[in-house]
Formats: sequence, C-alpha cells, structure tokens
Amino acid sequence: MRVGVVVMAVALLAGLSACEEGSGWYRGKEKLYHGIPVRVGFAPEDDKLAAAVWEYLREVDDVFNVYRTDSQVGRINRMEKRDGVVIPEDLARALRLARLVHEKTAGAFDPTVGPLVSLWRKAAREGGLPTTEQVEQALAVCGLDKVSLRGDRLQVESPGLRFDFGGLVKGMAVDRVVGMLRAGGARAALVQIGGETAAFGLSARQQPHVIGIQHPKRLDRIWTRITAPDPEAGISVSTSGNYRNPVVIEGKDLYHIIDPRTGRPADTRVLSVSVVFPRAGKNGLADGLSTACAVMGPAHCLPVVDALGGRVLFLLESDTGITERQGAGWDRLAP
Ligand code: AMP
Ligand code: MG
Repeated sequence: MRVGVVVMAVALLAGLSACEEGSGWYRGKEKLYHGIPVRVGFAPEDDKLAAAVWEYLREVDDVFNVYRTDSQVGRINRMEKRDGVVIPEDLARALRLARLVHEKTAGAFDPTVGPLVSLWRKAAREGGLPTTEQVEQALAVCGLDKVSLRGDRLQVESPGLRFDFGGLVKGMAVDRVVGMLRAGGARAALVQIGGETAAFGLSARQQPHVIGIQHPKRLDRIWTRITAPDPEAGISVSTSGNYRNPVVIEGKDLYHIIDPRTGRPADTRVLSVSVVFPRAGKNGLADGLSTACAVMGPAHCLPVVDALGGRVLFLLESDTGITERQGAGWDRLAP
C-alpha cells in the first residue's frame, strides 16, 4: 500500500493536545503499512474499543499488502491459475467497490494496474523510461474486464494480471473503523489513514471538526480548511496527490497513479484532488474517486463526483502558480 497525501486534521489535533488530559477522548497514533501515519481519536474513551480498532487496522495489511507474499492479495497475485478461487469477504467487498468506481469513471480507476505500477517503479529504480513495447505488454495483461466474481469465487482470465487495491483500501479501512466506533457507542471521532480522513460529532472543545487540506507544494502549510455541514453526519475526505512517493525517472517526478487506458503515469499538472462526502463512512468511495480523478482531470471528474453526491477540489499547476478548480457545493464546506 502506498502513501497518499497526508491530510492533517490540524485544528482538531491542536485542540486535542491542548485538552487531552481528562477530556474523555481516546487518542492514538501509529505508523502502519510502510510508515503511513494512522490516527484514531474518539469519545468517550474506551480502551477495549480502541484495542479492537488497532487490531483490525493491523489485519488490513494481512489481506491487502501487495508487497507481502503471504498477504491474501500477494498470494492471489502469485497463483498460476485463478479459476474459482475463494476469497475473503474484505477482498470481495474491495473488488465490488473497485468495480463500481471503475464503471463510474469510465475505467480511470482499475485495481488490476499492478503490472503497470511495477513496471514504472522498476523503471525508476533502473533510471530510464520503459519502452513502448514494455508498456504495451504490461497493459495487455491488465483490465478489470478479465476478472469476475461470483459470490466469493474469483475468476481471472489473464495469468499475468496483478491486483493492487492501494487506490481505495485506506478509505475502506477508515469506513470500517468509523462503523466500529459508531457501533461501539462513540459519539465523536476523528480517523485518519494517510490522505484519508473521517470525522463525526464534536471535538474535545465541543467544536465541529476542522480538517486541513495540505498545500501541494509547501508540506508545512495548509491550503484550505473544511468542515462537515452537519457534524452529526460527519465528513469523509480523501486526497490524492503527487507530492508523496512520486516515481522519479530522468530527474522528472512522475505520478504513482497510472492511467489504465494508456499505461502511463497521470498528468502531473494535477497537483492534488480532494473528494469529500458530507457524511462519515464514505471514504472508500471517496478514495477510489480521488485516485480516478487524478487520471481523469477536472473536466471529466467533476460531473461524475457531483452525480454521486460528492464535492471536489482540484489544485492544478498553472503558469501563474497553483489554480483551484472547485466542483459544485465545495464552498458549502467552509468552516
Ligand atoms: P491513492 O493514494 O489513493 O491515490 O492511491 C494510489 C495507489 O493506487 C498507487 O500507489 C497504486 O498502488 C494504485 N493505483 C495507481 N493507479 C491506479 C488506477 N488508475 N486505478 C486504481 N489504482 C491505482
Ligand atoms: Mg485513492
């Protein structure tokens, strides 16, 4: 799993550190999955619930980490024949959501881009662009149309196809944690995994949570701040960007997000895309969409996200610096 853009929940976290003692909030922080920052805060404090959340978060790696040969995805990726393989429910759910996002984004999101991700990462390690032939070869084995799922049985028609759920698994994990916290009686929470943040209820200072979207070029700065229009419903925020983990080849920063239609990295003029839903529990969808939107660019992305009830902010590289492109309703997220 790769790190997305870190979206800092500045205001909330500042509030928490100021009145953490005796505030009734549980607050925990860890680095999981190759150093991705994970934060979980909720009220009222409940050590058992916190332990269950962290246990679940550590298990995510056992299913989805493509770099581990013993993870579920790692094992499936290495199988010679994938003809009716029984897969766990978490993976089936990820595949169903990935297919939904794939269909909504005309193929811009594709969880079978594994061979292309590997090709571009290998090219970066070796220091030269891949050849057109290599790109074509990798492209030929990818494609969600070569995958089917009947119940819990997976069928893959392309032997070289490799899954990579890095584009939406962080968001799905945030949704699961939000669900666990709500079911466990939390009245407020803030959950963050890399560029995925969810919040609901009021902060320790009894204020609506304010979530900062990072400046795409100055990592110590916040570009803008947003908040849930209805604090009880909460908010799901997902940011994809190129300033974490770029693929560097011949001195150029290339996107770690691949356009599945061309097999080449997305256009780096998209500095970041944030997709927001005005309620907690929608990070899986937001995550898939923000990755897809980096590929699609504003003109194609905005109507798709709008139709699904989401809000979008693009930060684009332009001659004059950084230009914003907002989708419908973004302005209603202002604190
Ligand atoms: P995110 O940080 O959520 O934007 O996810 C980026 C990660 O998703 C990459 O590091 C790849 O593992 C994976 N990925 C790259 N391109 C795509 C794509 N077009 N569709 C789905 N996943 C992708
Ligand atoms: Mg994503």
